[in-house]
Amino acid sequence: MGTVLSRVAPISIAMLAAAALVLGADPYAAQRERMVREQIERRGIRDPEVLRVMRATPRHLFIPEAVRSMAYEDCPVPIGFGATISEPYIVALMTQLLETAKNHRVLEIGTGSGYQAAVLAQLASRVYSIEIVPELARSARQTLSRLGYSNIVVREGDGYKGWAEQAPFDRIILTAAPPDIPQTLVDELAPGGRLVAPVGSLGWQELIVIEKSRAGAIRRWSVIPVSFMPMRPGDEFGERQSR
Ligand code: SAH
Repeated sequence: MGTVLSRVAPISIAMLAAAALVLGADPYAAQRERMVREQIERRGIRDPEVLRVMRATPRHLFIPEAVRSMAYEDCPVPIGFGATISEPYIVALMTQLLETAKNHRVLEIGTGSGYQAAVLAQLASRVYSIEIVPELARSARQTLSRLGYSNIVVREGDGYKGWAEQAPFDRIILTAAPPDIPQTLVDELAPGGRLVAPVGSLGWQELIVIEKSRAGAIRRWSVIPVSFMPMRPGDEFGERQSR
């Protein structure tokens, strides 16, 4: 008996461990799959690339540990410094509206946790992301490099000023709401480019898409009402940035 057990036990323990590794490698995988099916596919997001990336991106790792259990819920989650990561559906919708292609250079205003940047980085050639809160810029940079996203550049600064050194961009996305689309950002959009942004005041914002034709003509339309944190005027942080 003893000999049989001593032979069997190590094998079954090894098998259990292997099974745990396979099944439990990402304890959030089942929640993420449910998120994609119930919150995103069911509400009409159909772009297979967007769905693939929403399935592949470990959203919980962009969310502070204290609120990590909310990572896959159908609501925005606070990430500190007054910022929130949008609910999964809004991230998916904005990503689909952006129609990013593999060769695109994308500008994001409002890095926050880095999650939206990570989603876009899997669909574009490079993502440039500007965050006004230095602590958020730093922690997003850390999260993104730990997870191996190597085609994202995060810069601490004011999104109203754009990123002249890297412009023009094929795609621009704002994840904080300005009262109006800053002209600097429209100027930094390449011909044939597309910009997606929440626009409006604290109480009333619309998700706007702007297209710039090859000839430079602007077409603009509204998609749905949304609620984002307002984009902060840069001078709030002006002193810290100029140091
Ligand atoms: N895209 C983020 C969510 C961003 S929340 C994510 O996936 O987690 C909006 C972010 O915009 C906040 O982090 C806020 O600090 C930042 N922000 C606000 N005003 C800004 C400005 N003028 N320039 C750059 N970032 C700004």
